[in-house]
Amino acid sequence: MKKVRFGRTELQVSKIALGGIPLQRLTKAEAIAVVHESLALGINFIDTANFYLDSEEKIGAAIRGIPRQELVLSTKSLGQTAADLTAHLNNSLKLLGVDYVDIFHLHSVSTPERLNNVFKENGTFEWLQEQVKAGKVRFPAFSSHRIDLALQLMETNRFDVVQLPFNYVDQEGEEAINLARQLDLGFICMKPLGGGRLTDAGSAFRFLMQYDNLVPNPGIETLEEIREIAAIVASNASLTLADETEIARVRAELGTQWCHKCDYCQPCLQGVQISGALTVECTFKRYNVEGARLLIDRPVESARACTECGDCLPRCPYQLNIPQLLKENIAFYDSIVT
Ligand code: SF4
Ligand code: SF4
Repeated sequence: MKKVRFGRTELQVSKIALGGIPLQRLTKAEAIAVVHESLALGINFIDTANFYLDSEEKIGAAIRGIPRQELVLSTKSLGQTAADLTAHLNNSLKLLGVDYVDIFHLHSVSTPERLNNVFKENGTFEWLQEQVKAGKVRFPAFSSHRIDLALQLMETNRFDVVQLPFNYVDQEGEEAINLARQLDLGFICMKPLGGGRLTDAGSAFRFLMQYDNLVPNPGIETLEEIREIAAIVASNASLTLADETEIARVRAELGTQWCHKCDYCQPCLQGVQISGALTVECTFKRYNVEGARLLIDRPVESARACTECGDCLPRCPYQLNIPQLLKENIAFYDSIVT
């Protein structure tokens, strides 16, 4: 796969990165196989996070023995204090089995409180600069689900890399893509498949490849998925008429009130598995009833315990009316299952 210049970092990265989220759900052997297949396909860029459970440990096992300079490694911490951030970074280095990471993100700067914490005295950016000086991190980065806050951070021109959601149903980030180009920042595009909503990889990736400064980081669960996506990206094909029809159809179907499966609304004290319970309809569409029920029975049961307390509402970066959407999803489930 073709390598491209990743903004002013001057790193040479593959046109897509391997996203670490789904590696949590795989066995160690399966995760290692996915990483090895990605590397064999020419993907040299792996993006994960301290928050993604054992993904770093699995990646670390997969890359053991591979010369460090052949890989571009990126991770993140949700920490808001120097002590937490340091513990997370040291843990990432240990699990990945490396002395430094190329890119380290302040993870999910998606609330005004977190944004205020970045540049205050002894704030998260000061800590990040110290890690760069110490050689543990090469390039400071942040990720966010709030484009307005991301634009503010980008305008400071202190970060070399930004990571934001962008796909053909989630195009709010277009202004940030343009600003990244102007500032020559590396841009990691999270949720290239809309958090699992966009089931046709061809139209999704041909759409994204129109933007020459994006590097999408699809989360991969199977060897077939990574082979399919790598082939689409490597072919360099333009959007087809059939892609445009598919994109228009999906956009009309989804509207705006849909869950991006980011899980920032957690924890729910009632144990509601919110993201699982908010994807009932599309899960029934993607699988047969039996297959869908394997995935959503438990989340739907947990959703019946929602007390409508509203604690989760300020944590959802997409301002979804979670209790109302839970009720609608339960009703949809009941209309099919009972
Ligand atoms: S509104 Fe429902 S889902 Fe949200 S935190 Fe309260 S109980 Fe949990
Ligand atoms: S409800 Fe909101 S915060 Fe929770 S997973 Fe969905 S989009 Fe993310």
